[in-house]
Amino acid sequence: MDLTAIDDAARTGNVAKLFDRTAAHHGDAQAMEHHGRRWTHADVRDWTAELAGGFHEIGLEPGDRALLFLPNCPQYLIASIGAFKAGVEISPVNPQYKRREVAYQLTDTDASAVITHPALRDVVAQATADADVEPAVITIRSEDWERDPDDHAFEELRGEPTLVERADDDVALLPYTSGTTGDPKGVKLTHENTRAQLLWPLTASNVDVEPADVRSLTWLPLYHITGFTHTALQPLVGGGRLYFRSALEWDAQECLQLIEDEVITHFVGVTTMYADMVETDDFGEYDLTSLESASEGGAKLSTAVQERFEETAGVDIAEGYGLTETHGATHTQSGSTFGLKHGTIGQPLRMTDCKIVDDSGTEVGPGEEGELLVRGPQVMAGYLELPEATAAAFTENGFLRTGDIARRDGNNYYEIVDRKKHMINTAGYNVYPSELEDLILEHEAVADVAVVGIPDERRNEVPKAFVVTSEGIAPGSDVTAEEITEFCLAAVASYKHPREVEFVAELPRTTSGKIQKYKLEEREE
Ligand code: AMP
Repeated sequence: MDLTAIDDAARTGNVAKLFDRTAAHHGDAQAMEHHGRRWTHADVRDWTAELAGGFHEIGLEPGDRALLFLPNCPQYLIASIGAFKAGVEISPVNPQYKRREVAYQLTDTDASAVITHPALRDVVAQATADADVEPAVITIRSEDWERDPDDHAFEELRGEPTLVERADDDVALLPYTSGTTGDPKGVKLTHENTRAQLLWPLTASNVDVEPADVRSLTWLPLYHITGFTHTALQPLVGGGRLYFRSALEWDAQECLQLIEDEVITHFVGVTTMYADMVETDDFGEYDLTSLESASEGGAKLSTAVQERFEETAGVDIAEGYGLTETHGATHTQSGSTFGLKHGTIGQPLRMTDCKIVDDSGTEVGPGEEGELLVRGPQVMAGYLELPEATAAAFTENGFLRTGDIARRDGNNYYEIVDRKKHMINTAGYNVYPSELEDLILEHEAVADVAVVGIPDERRNEVPKAFVVTSEGIAPGSDVTAEEITEFCLAAVASYKHPREVEFVAELPRTTSGKIQKYKLEEREE
């Protein structure tokens, strides 16, 4: 697709216009496939417009919010683009979440609606009761819908085709992340942020495949920005087609078979997924040569896994880097001037300004380490209803503080060397220690707790909890590690639970009372 052919009307306002433009060029081409059922780009245009009308008919108005609590499926994209068209802000929720986590997001977003799957309705009912709210609950049809080609999946929400105009800085998406500190926060991603991420691959990618010929396997979870932007929205707007699998049913062998059978050109995974693939007994027997682009994002790629994958599959893996706050990528290897360079995240995207600064905020030169700062049209408008956290996230020149420590080389390739923020990245999922600490503190036998990430060969890092019991004097006398683990498993998504619990008499603290987590981390190295 020629970017210069994008008319001015699609360069401003509601980002959903870009998908209608794709339908104008590739209307009859297949956009999505699931369980043997197919949708064209014209279906996407028409169904999302009718759904937007349906949202308005049930009383949702531009600026209202809806939680999207669904596993990966085509309806995820129909609902999202339908919401863009209606001007409804979408807040994605991890389908692994339990009532407590959903209730938090319901309350924090003040959502007017929840779009969900029949299998998740009970969790929604519990969460709405806990939060004491009554949003409209919209449940997609699942099985019937997959059989009947005329069934809309949102049948009761079929309204007058609608696309409301939005300002560039109106919010389109509200994903949750804790950022560099504190509790999970809503990240305000605007229509302009979304458009910036949708347009760059159409011009800047050096991948040798026409956007309309892209066949993308969407296996990373769509509630997370990497899956949503890079495995779904970008390929879709280019006129490509998507295949879906649920992140909850990850299966390396099935993935390899699908790449071969469906001639997948575009795959994005996390290190753990690539590790599982190379460890599959018959890894060398699959034909993966259709992959024009195999990428990794969201966590550091293990060099050992990368080399094994590349040697056997004959396809390079391009590492990328970005955050929820940047709607996905700020850096990729695939568009970089000198090609791929292992161990780096490549160069910044053309639209992205980047700086590395020391603790005093002074820019450092090549080879020196410091915090990575980024600025560009994809960077969030701020955190929802949190002016102080928003102000703290930006420098006075409008650069976002990423909380990651990086260095760059003389060719402007960047490398992530450490993390300043206390986030644990386990098999590509983020765990925010403060969320887990708040939960564990609710246990009646716990007086104090600190959660840190400890190294793990398969999952990269896993959470470990250091617990001081309310007895204090005789650590562990009152409660067992298993009880703490069970307590967490019952309340939050299972990847968050501490894989280890150690009872200690007290936590190391500074004189001002701040827990010295680095001391706990050093003990684990
Ligand atoms: P999220 O907001 O969930 O996308 O998490 C963003 C964080 O993931 C970044 O701030 C980094 O700490 C980490 N991250 C993302 N990509 C990479 C990468 N290629 N290498 C190392 N860390 C990464």
